[in-house]
Amino acid sequence: MLGGIQNSKLLVTNLIDHAAREHTNREIVSYWADGSLTRSNWGEIGVEARKFSQALQKLGMKKGDRIATIAMNHVHHLATWYGTAGIGGVLHTINPRLFEEQLVYICNHAEDRVLLFDKMFTPIIELIKPQLKTVEHFIQFDGEKGEYSTYRELVDAEDGDFTWVDVEENDPVGLCYTSGTTGNPKGVLYEHRSNVIHAITEVQPDVMDLATKSVMLPVVPMFHANAWGIPFAAAAVGSKLVFSASNEAPVLWKLIREEKVTHSAGVPTVWLSMFADMDTNGGDYGDLTTVIIGGSACPRAMIERLMKNDIRVGHAWGMTETSPIGTTGAYPANWDELSFDEQVDVICMQGRPPYGVELRVVDEDGNELPRDGESSGTLEIRGPWIIQRYFQADEDAVGEDRWFDTGDVAVLHPDGTMQITDRAKDVIKSGGEWISSIELENAAVGAPGVAEAAAVGVYHPKWDERPLLIVVRKPDSDVSGDDIKSYLTDKIAKWWMPDEVIFVDELPHTATGKILKRALRDEYKDYKLAGVE
Ligand code: ADP
Repeated sequence: MLGGIQNSKLLVTNLIDHAAREHTNREIVSYWADGSLTRSNWGEIGVEARKFSQALQKLGMKKGDRIATIAMNHVHHLATWYGTAGIGGVLHTINPRLFEEQLVYICNHAEDRVLLFDKMFTPIIELIKPQLKTVEHFIQFDGEKGEYSTYRELVDAEDGDFTWVDVEENDPVGLCYTSGTTGNPKGVLYEHRSNVIHAITEVQPDVMDLATKSVMLPVVPMFHANAWGIPFAAAAVGSKLVFSASNEAPVLWKLIREEKVTHSAGVPTVWLSMFADMDTNGGDYGDLTTVIIGGSACPRAMIERLMKNDIRVGHAWGMTETSPIGTTGAYPANWDELSFDEQVDVICMQGRPPYGVELRVVDEDGNELPRDGESSGTLEIRGPWIIQRYFQADEDAVGEDRWFDTGDVAVLHPDGTMQITDRAKDVIKSGGEWISSIELENAAVGAPGVAEAAAVGVYHPKWDERPLLIVVRKPDSDVSGDDIKSYLTDKIAKWWMPDEVIFVDELPHTATGKILKRALRDEYKDYKLAGVE
Protein backbone atom coordinates (compact mmCIF):
# COMPACT_ATOMS: atom_id res chain seq x y z
CA MET A 1 0.00 0.00 0.00
CA LEU A 2 1.32 3.45 -0.87
CA GLY A 3 0.83 6.52 1.31
CA GLY A 4 -1.42 9.35 0.19
CA ILE A 5 1.06 12.18 -0.14
CA GLN A 6 2.41 13.81 -3.30
CA ASN A 7 5.74 12.53 -4.52
CA SER A 8 7.35 15.84 -5.56
CA LYS A 9 10.92 15.38 -6.67
CA LEU A 10 13.71 16.95 -4.65
CA LEU A 11 15.49 19.01 -7.31
CA VAL A 12 18.14 21.71 -7.14
CA THR A 13 16.11 23.73 -9.66
CA ASN A 14 13.24 23.82 -7.17
CA LEU A 15 15.56 25.64 -4.76
CA ILE A 16 16.16 28.50 -7.19
CA ASP A 17 12.47 28.58 -8.18
CA HIS A 18 11.53 28.89 -4.52
CA ALA A 19 14.11 31.60 -3.83
CA ALA A 20 13.15 33.57 -6.95
CA ARG A 21 9.42 33.38 -6.16
CA GLU A 22 9.40 33.85 -2.37
CA HIS A 23 12.53 35.97 -1.86
CA THR A 24 12.59 37.85 -5.16
CA ASN A 25 14.22 41.04 -3.90
CA ARG A 26 16.56 39.51 -1.33
CA GLU A 27 20.00 40.71 -2.38
CA ILE A 28 22.99 38.89 -3.81
CA VAL A 29 26.04 41.15 -3.58
CA SER A 30 29.19 40.47 -5.55
CA TYR A 31 32.61 42.01 -4.96
CA TRP A 32 34.63 41.45 -8.14
CA ALA A 33 38.32 40.91 -8.75
CA ASP A 34 38.64 44.42 -10.24
CA GLY A 35 37.36 45.97 -7.00
CA SER A 36 33.86 46.79 -8.28
CA LEU A 37 30.68 45.76 -6.48
CA THR A 38 27.37 44.74 -8.06
CA ARG A 39 23.94 44.02 -6.60
CA SER A 40 21.52 41.42 -7.85
CA ASN A 41 18.79 39.38 -6.15
CA TRP A 42 17.27 35.90 -6.10
CA GLY A 43 14.60 36.96 -8.61
CA GLU A 44 17.22 38.06 -11.14
CA ILE A 45 19.31 34.92 -10.57
CA GLY A 46 16.20 32.86 -11.34
CA VAL A 47 15.97 34.52 -14.77
CA GLU A 48 19.70 34.58 -15.36
CA ALA A 49 19.97 30.83 -14.63
CA ARG A 50 17.30 30.12 -17.26
CA LYS A 51 19.16 32.27 -19.77
CA PHE A 52 22.32 30.31 -19.03
CA SER A 53 20.42 27.05 -19.59
CA GLN A 54 19.32 28.38 -22.98
CA ALA A 55 22.90 29.41 -23.80
CA LEU A 56 24.16 25.94 -22.88
CA GLN A 57 21.60 24.29 -25.13
CA LYS A 58 22.62 26.59 -27.96
CA LEU A 59 26.18 25.32 -27.48
CA GLY A 60 24.81 21.81 -27.91
CA MET A 61 24.96 20.78 -24.25
CA LYS A 62 22.53 18.19 -23.01
CA LYS A 63 21.54 16.16 -19.97
CA GLY A 64 24.50 14.65 -18.12
CA ASP A 65 27.13 16.84 -19.80
CA ARG A 66 29.83 18.26 -17.54
CA ILE A 67 30.17 22.04 -17.41
CA ALA A 68 33.35 23.09 -15.57
CA THR A 69 34.26 26.31 -13.76
CA ILE A 70 37.60 27.67 -12.58
CA ALA A 71 36.31 30.67 -10.70
CA MET A 72 36.10 32.58 -7.45
CA ASN A 73 32.84 33.33 -5.64
CA HIS A 74 30.55 35.65 -7.58
CA VAL A 75 27.04 36.01 -8.87
CA HIS A 76 27.73 34.75 -12.41
CA HIS A 77 29.24 31.62 -10.91
CA LEU A 78 26.04 31.16 -8.89
CA ALA A 79 23.83 31.50 -11.98
CA THR A 80 25.85 28.84 -13.81
CA TRP A 81 25.29 26.38 -10.96
CA TYR A 82 21.53 26.66 -11.29
CA GLY A 83 21.53 27.08 -15.08
CA THR A 84 23.56 23.90 -15.51
CA ALA A 85 21.18 22.02 -13.22
CA GLY A 86 18.40 23.42 -15.42
CA ILE A 87 19.44 21.39 -18.49
CA GLY A 88 20.11 18.32 -16.35
CA GLY A 89 23.84 19.04 -16.61
CA VAL A 90 26.59 18.45 -14.08
CA LEU A 91 28.44 21.48 -12.73
CA HIS A 92 32.07 20.64 -12.11
CA THR A 93 33.89 23.18 -9.93
CA ILE A 94 37.68 23.08 -10.19
CA ASN A 95 40.17 24.41 -7.67
CA PRO A 96 42.52 26.84 -9.49
CA ARG A 97 45.25 26.25 -6.91
CA LEU A 98 45.83 22.65 -7.99
CA PHE A 99 48.98 21.76 -9.91
CA GLU A 100 48.90 21.82 -13.70
CA GLU A 101 48.96 17.99 -14.01
CA GLN A 102 46.07 17.66 -11.57
CA LEU A 103 44.00 20.28 -13.42
CA VAL A 104 44.57 18.48 -16.71
CA TYR A 105 43.84 15.08 -15.19
CA ILE A 106 40.62 16.29 -13.59
CA CYS A 107 39.23 18.02 -16.71
CA ASN A 108 40.02 15.03 -18.91
CA HIS A 109 38.72 12.51 -16.42
CA ALA A 110 35.47 14.46 -16.00
CA GLU A 111 35.20 14.86 -19.79
CA ASP A 112 34.20 18.49 -19.36
CA ARG A 113 32.65 20.00 -22.51
CA VAL A 114 32.50 23.65 -21.42
CA LEU A 115 34.99 25.48 -19.22
CA LEU A 116 34.06 28.83 -17.69
CA PHE A 117 36.84 30.81 -16.00
CA ASP A 118 37.63 34.08 -14.29
CA LYS A 119 39.84 36.43 -16.26
CA MET A 120 42.50 36.25 -13.53
CA PHE A 121 42.90 32.55 -14.32
CA THR A 122 43.59 33.07 -18.05
CA PRO A 123 47.26 32.06 -17.58
CA ILE A 124 46.08 28.71 -16.16
CA ILE A 125 43.74 28.22 -19.12
CA GLU A 126 46.55 28.97 -21.56
CA LEU A 127 48.75 26.44 -19.78
CA ILE A 128 46.30 23.54 -19.72
CA LYS A 129 44.30 24.21 -22.90
CA PRO A 130 46.58 22.26 -25.28
CA GLN A 131 46.31 19.21 -23.00
CA LEU A 132 42.51 19.19 -22.61
CA LYS A 133 40.90 16.47 -24.70
CA THR A 134 37.19 17.17 -24.36
CA VAL A 135 36.61 20.89 -23.76
CA GLU A 136 34.86 22.48 -26.75
CA HIS A 137 34.04 25.92 -25.36
CA PHE A 138 36.10 28.27 -23.18
CA ILE A 139 34.05 31.10 -21.70
CA GLN A 140 35.36 34.05 -19.72
CA PHE A 141 33.24 34.99 -16.70
CA ASP A 142 34.31 38.58 -15.98
CA GLY A 143 36.38 41.48 -17.29
CA GLU A 144 36.92 42.89 -20.78
CA LYS A 145 36.36 40.60 -23.72
CA GLY A 146 39.57 39.32 -25.24
CA GLU A 147 40.16 36.13 -27.16
CA TYR A 148 37.28 34.20 -25.57
CA SER A 149 33.47 34.52 -25.58
CA THR A 150 32.17 36.08 -22.42
CA TYR A 151 29.49 34.89 -20.05
CA ARG A 152 27.60 38.20 -20.50
CA GLU A 153 27.49 37.98 -24.25
CA LEU A 154 26.14 34.42 -24.13
CA VAL A 155 23.54 35.14 -21.47
CA ASP A 156 22.42 38.50 -22.85
CA ALA A 157 21.52 36.83 -26.16
CA GLU A 158 18.77 34.80 -24.42
CA ASP A 159 15.27 35.75 -23.20
CA GLY A 160 14.94 33.47 -20.15
CA ASP A 161 11.77 31.83 -21.49
CA PHE A 162 12.84 28.32 -20.61
CA THR A 163 11.37 25.27 -18.89
CA TRP A 164 13.83 23.23 -16.86
CA VAL A 165 14.70 19.91 -18.51
CA ASP A 166 12.94 17.06 -16.73
CA VAL A 167 15.26 15.01 -14.53
CA GLU A 168 14.99 12.44 -11.76
CA GLU A 169 16.01 13.30 -8.22
CA ASN A 170 18.83 10.75 -8.25
CA ASP A 171 20.30 12.25 -11.43
CA PRO A 172 23.74 13.86 -11.00
CA VAL A 173 24.02 17.65 -10.73
CA GLY A 174 27.48 18.41 -9.37
CA LEU A 175 31.01 17.06 -9.44
CA CYS A 176 33.93 17.82 -7.13
CA TYR A 177 37.31 16.14 -6.99
CA THR A 178 39.18 15.39 -3.79
CA SER A 179 42.59 16.99 -3.72
CA GLY A 180 44.29 13.65 -4.19
CA THR A 181 46.72 13.57 -1.32
CA THR A 182 47.14 9.90 -2.17
CA GLY A 183 47.17 9.02 -5.85
CA ASN A 184 44.99 10.70 -8.46
CA PRO A 185 42.13 12.99 -7.41
CA LYS A 186 38.79 11.21 -7.19
CA GLY A 187 35.45 12.64 -8.32
CA VAL A 188 32.43 12.84 -6.05
CA LEU A 189 29.20 13.06 -8.04
CA TYR A 190 26.42 14.82 -6.13
CA GLU A 191 22.74 14.26 -6.90
CA HIS A 192 19.76 16.62 -6.93
CA ARG A 193 18.28 14.72 -4.01
CA SER A 194 21.44 14.64 -1.91
CA ASN A 195 22.08 18.36 -2.46
CA VAL A 196 18.51 19.31 -1.52
CA ILE A 197 18.43 17.21 1.65
CA HIS A 198 21.85 18.59 2.58
CA ALA A 199 20.58 22.15 2.02
CA ILE A 200 17.49 21.66 4.17
CA THR A 201 19.68 20.19 6.90
CA GLU A 202 22.20 22.98 6.70
CA VAL A 203 19.78 25.80 7.54
CA GLN A 204 18.84 24.19 10.88
CA PRO A 205 19.74 26.14 14.05
CA ASP A 206 22.14 23.40 15.16
CA VAL A 207 23.90 23.40 11.80
CA MET A 208 24.42 26.77 10.06
CA ASP A 209 21.36 28.50 11.51
CA LEU A 210 20.40 30.26 8.28
CA ALA A 211 17.18 32.22 7.83
CA THR A 212 15.71 34.82 5.51
CA LYS A 213 17.08 37.59 7.70
CA SER A 214 20.59 36.11 7.64
CA VAL A 215 23.31 37.73 5.59
CA MET A 216 25.85 35.07 4.64
CA LEU A 217 29.36 35.70 3.34
CA PRO A 218 30.87 32.35 2.35
CA VAL A 219 34.63 32.85 2.40
CA VAL A 220 34.94 29.17 1.57
CA PRO A 221 35.37 29.09 -2.22
CA MET A 222 32.65 27.67 -4.44
CA PHE A 223 35.26 25.16 -5.66
CA HIS A 224 35.80 23.77 -2.14
CA ALA A 225 33.08 21.13 -1.69
CA ASN A 226 30.36 23.36 -3.19
CA ALA A 227 31.20 26.23 -0.82
CA TRP A 228 30.01 23.73 1.79
CA GLY A 229 26.56 23.76 0.16
CA ILE A 230 25.84 27.37 1.14
CA PRO A 231 24.57 28.55 -2.29
CA PHE A 232 21.86 25.86 -2.05
CA ALA A 233 21.04 26.36 1.63
CA ALA A 234 20.76 30.14 1.22
CA ALA A 235 18.26 29.64 -1.62
CA ALA A 236 16.13 27.35 0.55
CA VAL A 237 15.50 30.19 3.03
CA GLY A 238 16.25 33.28 0.92
CA SER A 239 19.24 34.52 2.90
CA LYS A 240 21.11 37.50 1.49
CA LEU A 241 24.41 36.33 0.00
CA VAL A 242 27.61 38.35 -0.12
CA PHE A 243 30.23 36.96 -2.49
CA SER A 244 33.82 38.10 -2.62
CA ALA A 245 36.23 37.24 -5.42
CA SER A 246 39.01 38.42 -3.10
CA ASN A 247 40.00 36.78 0.17
CA GLU A 248 42.09 39.74 1.38
CA ALA A 249 41.25 40.49 5.00
CA PRO A 250 40.60 44.26 4.51
CA VAL A 251 38.10 43.48 1.72
CA LEU A 252 36.33 40.87 3.82
CA TRP A 253 36.09 43.17 6.86
CA LYS A 254 34.72 45.99 4.71
CA LEU A 255 32.06 43.69 3.26
CA ILE A 256 31.21 42.28 6.69
CA ARG A 257 30.72 45.76 8.13
CA GLU A 258 29.05 47.51 5.20
CA GLU A 259 26.75 44.68 4.08
CA LYS A 260 25.77 43.83 7.68
CA VAL A 261 26.95 40.25 7.39
CA THR A 262 25.60 38.00 10.16
CA HIS A 263 27.03 34.63 9.05
CA SER A 264 30.31 33.56 7.55
CA ALA A 265 32.07 30.29 6.79
CA GLY A 266 35.68 29.40 6.07
CA VAL A 267 38.80 27.44 7.01
CA PRO A 268 40.80 28.45 10.10
CA THR A 269 43.60 30.12 8.09
CA VAL A 270 41.08 32.73 6.92
CA TRP A 271 40.53 33.82 10.51
CA LEU A 272 44.26 33.96 11.20
CA SER A 273 44.60 36.67 8.56
CA MET A 274 41.36 38.39 9.63
CA PHE A 275 42.59 38.62 13.23
CA ALA A 276 46.03 39.83 12.15
CA ASP A 277 44.39 42.60 10.13
CA MET A 278 42.11 43.55 13.01
CA ASP A 279 45.06 43.69 15.43
CA THR A 280 46.88 46.10 13.13
CA ASN A 281 44.04 48.21 11.78
CA GLY A 282 41.40 47.97 14.51
CA GLY A 283 37.71 47.76 13.70
CA ASP A 284 34.86 45.62 15.01
CA TYR A 285 32.95 42.47 14.05
CA GLY A 286 29.97 44.39 12.68
CA ASP A 287 26.75 42.35 12.97
CA LEU A 288 28.45 38.92 12.90
CA THR A 289 26.62 36.38 15.06
CA THR A 290 27.72 33.05 13.59
CA VAL A 291 30.86 31.76 11.96
CA ILE A 292 31.26 28.26 10.64
CA ILE A 293 34.88 27.12 10.79
CA GLY A 294 35.98 23.79 9.39
CA GLY A 295 38.11 21.99 6.86
CA SER A 296 40.76 21.51 9.52
CA ALA A 297 40.58 21.61 13.30
CA CYS A 298 39.78 25.05 14.68
CA PRO A 299 42.36 26.13 17.30
CA ARG A 300 41.11 26.87 20.80
CA ALA A 301 42.50 30.41 20.81
CA MET A 302 40.43 31.22 17.71
CA ILE A 303 37.24 29.80 19.20
CA GLU A 304 37.83 31.70 22.44
CA ARG A 305 38.43 35.01 20.73
CA LEU A 306 35.26 34.79 18.65
CA MET A 307 33.11 33.54 21.53
CA LYS A 308 34.37 36.36 23.78
CA ASN A 309 32.87 38.67 21.17
CA ASP A 310 29.48 36.92 21.41
CA ILE A 311 29.94 35.09 18.13
CA ARG A 312 28.78 31.49 17.85
CA VAL A 313 31.44 29.22 16.38
CA GLY A 314 30.04 26.26 14.48
CA HIS A 315 33.02 23.92 14.38
CA ALA A 316 32.33 21.94 11.24
CA TRP A 317 33.81 18.62 10.23
CA GLY A 318 33.29 17.06 6.85
CA MET A 319 34.87 16.16 3.57
CA THR A 320 34.23 16.33 -0.18
CA GLU A 321 32.81 12.82 0.09
CA THR A 322 30.22 13.99 2.63
CA SER A 323 28.75 16.91 0.62
CA PRO A 324 30.48 18.12 2.96
CA ILE A 325 28.60 18.46 6.27
CA GLY A 326 29.25 15.69 8.79
CA THR A 327 29.01 17.63 12.06
CA THR A 328 28.84 21.32 13.01
CA GLY A 329 29.44 21.54 16.73
CA ALA A 330 25.82 21.98 17.81
CA TYR A 331 25.22 23.24 21.35
CA PRO A 332 24.33 20.48 23.83
CA ALA A 333 21.15 20.71 25.93
CA ASN A 334 23.02 21.90 29.04
CA TRP A 335 24.86 24.70 27.19
CA ASP A 336 23.49 27.50 29.37
CA GLU A 337 24.63 25.76 32.54
CA LEU A 338 28.24 25.50 31.36
CA SER A 339 30.97 27.96 32.30
CA PHE A 340 32.64 29.90 29.48
CA ASP A 341 35.67 27.59 29.56
CA GLU A 342 33.46 24.49 29.47
CA GLN A 343 31.59 25.94 26.49
CA VAL A 344 34.90 26.46 24.71
CA ASP A 345 35.84 22.83 25.54
CA VAL A 346 32.65 21.69 23.79
CA ILE A 347 33.29 23.77 20.66
CA CYS A 348 36.88 22.56 20.41
CA MET A 349 35.37 19.19 19.54
CA GLN A 350 33.68 18.63 16.18
CA GLY A 351 30.20 18.04 17.60
CA ARG A 352 27.17 15.83 17.11
CA PRO A 353 25.81 14.89 13.70
CA PRO A 354 22.52 16.30 12.39
CA TYR A 355 19.66 13.91 11.53
CA GLY A 356 20.67 11.92 8.46
CA VAL A 357 24.31 11.44 9.37
CA GLU A 358 25.36 8.32 11.29
CA LEU A 359 28.84 8.06 12.79
CA ARG A 360 30.77 5.23 14.34
CA VAL A 361 34.35 4.56 15.38
CA VAL A 362 35.92 1.16 14.61
CA ASP A 363 39.15 -0.64 15.49
CA GLU A 364 41.62 -2.11 12.99
CA ASP A 365 39.43 -5.17 12.49
CA GLY A 366 36.32 -3.11 11.83
CA ASN A 367 34.72 -3.78 15.24
CA GLU A 368 32.63 -0.90 16.52
CA LEU A 369 34.19 0.80 19.56
CA PRO A 370 32.20 2.12 22.52
CA ARG A 371 31.09 5.76 22.74
CA ASP A 372 33.06 6.25 25.94
CA GLY A 373 35.04 9.38 25.16
CA GLU A 374 38.27 7.35 25.26
CA SER A 375 38.33 4.62 22.62
CA SER A 376 39.93 6.05 19.55
CA GLY A 377 39.67 4.48 16.11
CA THR A 378 38.80 5.04 12.48
CA LEU A 379 35.79 7.27 11.93
CA GLU A 380 33.11 5.91 9.60
CA ILE A 381 30.05 7.72 8.31
CA ARG A 382 26.89 6.99 6.31
CA GLY A 383 23.76 8.82 5.25
CA PRO A 384 21.77 10.25 2.32
CA TRP A 385 24.46 12.77 1.32
CA ILE A 386 27.50 10.52 1.85
CA ILE A 387 29.41 8.99 -1.08
CA GLN A 388 28.45 5.60 -2.49
CA ARG A 389 30.89 5.39 -5.41
CA TYR A 390 33.52 7.70 -6.93
CA PHE A 391 32.85 9.06 -10.41
CA GLN A 392 33.73 6.54 -13.14
CA ALA A 393 34.89 4.00 -10.52
CA ASP A 394 34.24 0.32 -11.09
CA GLU A 395 33.18 -0.42 -7.57
CA ASP A 396 31.59 1.22 -4.57
CA ALA A 397 33.63 3.22 -2.06
CA VAL A 398 31.64 1.51 0.71
CA GLY A 399 30.68 -2.03 1.65
CA GLU A 400 27.18 -3.46 1.73
CA ASP A 401 26.40 -1.73 5.02
CA ARG A 402 27.27 1.64 3.39
CA TRP A 403 29.78 2.74 6.07
CA PHE A 404 32.42 5.01 4.51
CA ASP A 405 35.93 5.05 5.99
CA THR A 406 36.88 8.73 6.41
CA GLY A 407 40.59 8.20 7.04
CA ASP A 408 40.20 10.26 10.20
CA VAL A 409 40.91 9.06 13.72
CA ALA A 410 38.25 10.05 16.24
CA VAL A 411 36.67 9.47 19.62
CA LEU A 412 32.92 9.43 20.24
CA HIS A 413 31.69 10.74 23.59
CA PRO A 414 28.71 9.24 25.46
CA ASP A 415 26.40 12.09 24.30
CA GLY A 416 27.39 11.46 20.66
CA THR A 417 29.87 14.34 20.39
CA MET A 418 32.60 13.49 17.94
CA GLN A 419 36.18 14.56 18.42
CA ILE A 420 38.73 14.24 15.65
CA THR A 421 42.12 13.40 17.07
CA ASP A 422 43.97 13.21 13.78
CA ARG A 423 44.10 12.05 10.23
CA ALA A 424 45.25 8.46 10.21
CA LYS A 425 48.33 9.39 8.22
CA ASP A 426 49.24 12.35 10.44
CA VAL A 427 49.25 10.72 13.89
CA ILE A 428 52.61 10.63 15.62
CA LYS A 429 53.34 7.10 16.80
CA SER A 430 55.48 7.26 19.90
CA GLY A 431 56.29 4.15 21.90
CA GLY A 432 53.22 2.30 20.64
CA GLU A 433 50.91 5.16 21.64
CA TRP A 434 49.44 7.88 19.47
CA ILE A 435 50.09 11.58 19.84
CA SER A 436 47.48 13.79 18.20
CA SER A 437 49.28 16.21 15.89
CA ILE A 438 46.11 18.31 15.77
CA GLU A 439 45.92 18.80 19.53
CA LEU A 440 49.60 19.62 19.73
CA GLU A 441 49.33 22.22 16.97
CA ASN A 442 46.23 23.78 18.42
CA ALA A 443 47.79 24.09 21.85
CA ALA A 444 50.91 25.63 20.31
CA VAL A 445 49.06 28.35 18.36
CA GLY A 446 47.70 29.58 21.68
CA ALA A 447 51.26 30.54 22.77
CA PRO A 448 52.07 34.24 22.53
CA GLY A 449 54.02 35.06 19.39
CA VAL A 450 53.02 31.93 17.48
CA ALA A 451 51.22 32.55 14.19
CA GLU A 452 50.99 28.99 12.88
CA ALA A 453 52.34 25.60 13.94
CA ALA A 454 52.60 22.08 12.56
CA ALA A 455 53.60 18.91 14.38
CA VAL A 456 55.14 15.96 12.56
CA GLY A 457 56.65 12.72 13.79
CA VAL A 458 60.38 12.27 13.14
CA TYR A 459 62.46 9.15 13.61
CA HIS A 460 63.57 8.19 17.11
CA PRO A 461 65.50 4.95 17.81
CA LYS A 462 63.76 4.25 21.10
CA TRP A 463 60.24 5.62 20.57
CA ASP A 464 59.87 5.10 16.79
CA GLU A 465 58.69 8.68 16.37
CA ARG A 466 58.83 11.83 18.43
CA PRO A 467 57.07 15.13 17.72
CA LEU A 468 58.88 17.96 15.99
CA LEU A 469 57.05 21.28 16.18
CA ILE A 470 57.51 23.61 13.22
CA VAL A 471 56.48 27.16 14.00
CA VAL A 472 55.87 30.40 12.10
CA ARG A 473 56.37 33.39 14.43
CA LYS A 474 54.01 36.37 14.42
CA PRO A 475 55.59 39.45 12.85
CA ASP A 476 57.91 41.20 15.36
CA SER A 477 57.86 38.22 17.73
CA ASP A 478 61.07 36.62 18.97
CA VAL A 479 59.40 33.79 20.90
CA SER A 480 61.82 30.92 21.53
CA GLY A 481 61.41 27.14 21.50
CA ASP A 482 61.78 27.09 25.29
CA ASP A 483 59.07 29.76 25.68
CA ILE A 484 56.69 27.61 23.65
CA LYS A 485 57.56 24.46 25.56
CA SER A 486 56.99 26.10 28.91
CA TYR A 487 53.65 27.46 27.64
CA LEU A 488 52.67 23.90 26.66
CA THR A 489 53.62 22.35 30.02
CA ASP A 490 50.15 22.43 31.58
CA LYS A 491 48.25 22.05 28.29
CA ILE A 492 49.37 18.65 27.01
CA ALA A 493 50.43 15.29 28.43
CA LYS A 494 54.09 15.31 29.45
CA TRP A 495 55.10 12.66 26.93
CA TRP A 496 53.52 14.70 24.10
CA MET A 497 56.04 17.52 24.60
CA PRO A 498 57.80 18.17 21.26
CA ASP A 499 61.42 17.06 21.39
CA GLU A 500 62.34 20.13 19.38
CA VAL A 501 60.80 23.35 18.17
CA ILE A 502 62.10 24.88 14.96
CA PHE A 503 61.12 28.09 13.20
CA VAL A 504 60.34 28.69 9.53
CA ASP A 505 59.11 31.72 7.56
CA GLU A 506 56.09 29.93 6.22
CA LEU A 507 54.36 26.56 6.13
CA PRO A 508 53.16 24.86 2.93
CA HIS A 509 49.37 24.81 2.43
CA THR A 510 47.06 22.66 0.34
CA ALA A 511 44.86 24.09 -2.39
CA THR A 512 42.10 24.56 0.19
CA GLY A 513 44.25 26.35 2.76
CA LYS A 514 45.15 23.47 5.06
CA ILE A 515 48.68 22.83 6.27
CA LEU A 516 50.25 20.37 3.84
CA LYS A 517 51.43 17.73 6.31
CA ARG A 518 52.57 15.33 3.61
CA ALA A 519 55.08 17.88 2.28
CA LEU A 520 56.34 18.56 5.80
CA ARG A 521 56.70 14.86 6.51
CA ASP A 522 58.73 14.47 3.32
CA GLU A 523 60.87 17.51 4.09
CA TYR A 524 61.65 16.47 7.67
CA LYS A 525 61.81 12.72 7.00
CA ASP A 526 65.50 12.56 7.78
CA TYR A 527 65.52 15.26 10.46
CA LYS A 528 67.95 14.37 13.23
CA LEU A 529 66.76 15.23 16.70
CA ALA A 530 69.56 16.56 18.92
CA GLY A 531 71.44 13.72 20.60
CA VAL A 532 69.89 11.05 18.37
CA GLU A 533 72.14 8.93 16.16
P1 ADP B 1 41.18 17.19 1.35
O1 ADP B 1 41.29 15.73 1.68
O2 ADP B 1 41.55 17.58 0.03
O3 ADP B 1 41.71 18.09 2.43
P2 ADP B 1 38.51 17.70 2.16
O4 ADP B 1 38.26 19.15 2.15
O5 ADP B 1 37.44 16.79 1.75
O6 ADP B 1 39.65 17.44 1.23
O7 ADP B 1 39.11 17.30 3.58
C1 ADP B 1 38.46 16.48 4.49
C2 ADP B 1 39.33 16.26 5.68
O8 ADP B 1 39.64 17.49 6.34
C3 ADP B 1 38.69 15.41 6.75
O9 ADP B 1 38.77 14.05 6.45
C4 ADP B 1 39.50 15.80 7.98
O10 ADP B 1 40.72 15.11 8.04
C5 ADP B 1 39.79 17.25 7.74
N1 ADP B 1 38.86 18.09 8.49
C6 ADP B 1 37.78 18.75 8.02
N2 ADP B 1 37.18 19.44 8.99
C7 ADP B 1 37.87 19.23 10.13
C8 ADP B 1 37.73 19.65 11.50
N3 ADP B 1 36.78 20.48 11.89
N4 ADP B 1 38.63 19.19 12.39
C9 ADP B 1 39.62 18.36 12.01
N5 ADP B 1 39.81 17.94 10.76
C10 ADP B 1 38.94 18.36 9.82
